[in-house]
Amino acid sequence: MKCAICRHGITTEGYTTVVLERGQTTVVFKKVPAQICDNCGEEYVSEAVNKVLLRQAQEQWERGIIIEMLNFAA
Ligand SMILES: [Zn+2]
Repeated sequence: MKCAICRHGITTEGYTTVVLERGQTTVVFKKVPAQICDNCGEEYVSEAVNKVLLRQAQEQWERGIIIEMLNFAA
């Protein structure tokens, strides 16, 4: 798809790292599938993926984890 930020680049399939914070909990997700702009580098994470990230961050928060690094698994 065409990048909505720079309006010049085209996004391609790739992976990114997403950091989510909730209270004292920080969760770092690696290898998150994303569409990445080849021009400006903007990363687009799909709504479905985002939902999973939020749910997993919530789980870590409930467990009282301070910092956790996870490989994203769909
Ligand atoms: Zn762009």
